[in-house]
Amino acid sequence: MNSSERYDAFLDITRQIHALELAAEFLSWDQQTGMPPKGAPARALQLSTVEGIRHAVLTGDELGEHLEALGNGVSLDGDAAVNVREMERLRRRALCIPNALVREISKVQSLAMEAWIRARSDSDFGAFAPWLGEMLDLKRQEADEVGYDECRYDALHDEYEPGSTARRLKVLFRTLRDELVPLVAELADSPAAAKRKGVVGDFAVDRQKAFAVNLLTTIGFDWDAGRVDVSAHPFCSGNLHDVRLTTRYDENDITRALFGLLHEGGHGLYEQGFDPAFEGTPRARAVSLGIHESQSRMWENLVGRSRPFWEFALPLLHEAFPFTSSVGLDDWYAAINRVERSMIRVEADEVTYNLHIILRFELEMELIEDRLSVADLPAAWNDRMKSFLGVVPANDAEGVLQDIHWAHGIFGYFPTYALGNLYASQFFHAARNDIPGMDEAIRKGNFAPLLGWLREKIHTRGRTLWPEDLVKDVTGEALNADYQLDYLKEKFRSLYGAG
Ligand code: ZN
Repeated sequence: MNSSERYDAFLDITRQIHALELAAEFLSWDQQTGMPPKGAPARALQLSTVEGIRHAVLTGDELGEHLEALGNGVSLDGDAAVNVREMERLRRRALCIPNALVREISKVQSLAMEAWIRARSDSDFGAFAPWLGEMLDLKRQEADEVGYDECRYDALHDEYEPGSTARRLKVLFRTLRDELVPLVAELADSPAAAKRKGVVGDFAVDRQKAFAVNLLTTIGFDWDAGRVDVSAHPFCSGNLHDVRLTTRYDENDITRALFGLLHEGGHGLYEQGFDPAFEGTPRARAVSLGIHESQSRMWENLVGRSRPFWEFALPLLHEAFPFTSSVGLDDWYAAINRVERSMIRVEADEVTYNLHIILRFELEMELIEDRLSVADLPAAWNDRMKSFLGVVPANDAEGVLQDIHWAHGIFGYFPTYALGNLYASQFFHAARNDIPGMDEAIRKGNFAPLLGWLREKIHTRGRTLWPEDLVKDVTGEALNADYQLDYLKEKFRSLYGAG
């Protein structure tokens, strides 16, 4: 087998693994959007079967032989080298974790999820605590099997954000926290804050959907390669030519579905933007969750909650929902940018959101490192809520039990939400420098310059560069918190000062 035959054989297996991953994603999409309830047990078996086959192919000898041969001095061009590097990375991680541990984690996952659902509805952390303890034990074992340089947390976080470390997160998050805690107090307690109200009324669901679909078309989403459905928890799945978005509607308030769809649509634009020449390989996949989130947060917030965007879109809203015609640009812009001391992460505004994430990062880091016991977690959660956001949850359901991640065994994932905000601000700043008249174009509903820039600088590059190198390449400097902080201060101080 010569080197090009070898690479082709490697690509065949790579595409099979990708196909199995997408098959699982679509089974899961169907489960959350349309599957009848009685389908659940069979669906669980379908999903675990597909995952089992994927794991076997990924850890199998055939892929191992190809990788060894391709890694042994065969000269590869840049794109091929990316694919080999990334498949090696995936395989190494899969091989590190013994099968017995994988099975144990998956068993405890489903039991812990059931316990979490009950515990949350009873607001009883004690009922979930033993499962959290067990899950932490297993995740510590996983981290030890995978290996790390500095701390266990790195081994878990690295799965979601290649190259990122707890050390780096601590530096970024300390800066954010020190500046955001006083900023939240300044804005949320200002006299202007009390006057701000949302716009409620009769927003028929079919018209909401048509309105959001129209906006997504305008920003560049390709409906021949995507669709939108309803699910309890919004998400985006699929890849390149088949991207699934979901949302949920509130008949009295359009903002939930609208900004939810701008967010998921941002994820979708990233997926649709990979280079189709590399479909089915890591070269045409997202490089990290943080970079993925930077795309969703950019369209949702930096574009979607900006004044230029609504100079273009508000007349369309007035047309679609005539009762909103009395709401002018200033009032609408203020309504969609309210800063509140919030209890629930998924409902948090741009200013408080990062603090919700930093709180979770600090706590899960302490849990994994055994510096915080499970029994002390609710009190630690409430203390930190008080010092970060100035509010204390009335019960565990609106406090420590609100997120599904820990029940699912997902540790090291939360930081990628805040990283997404930082990347988004830094990218957006660079885009504005690179694109003359970008805001003017947005005011006119022309998003092609921005999307074109994102396609060229970020989307089409797939996994070519890891996040830290990508940021340096696109913006000329390492990731830092300044762009996010400057953006938040400038936007919200002028909004609240003027109110
Ligand atoms: Zn997202």
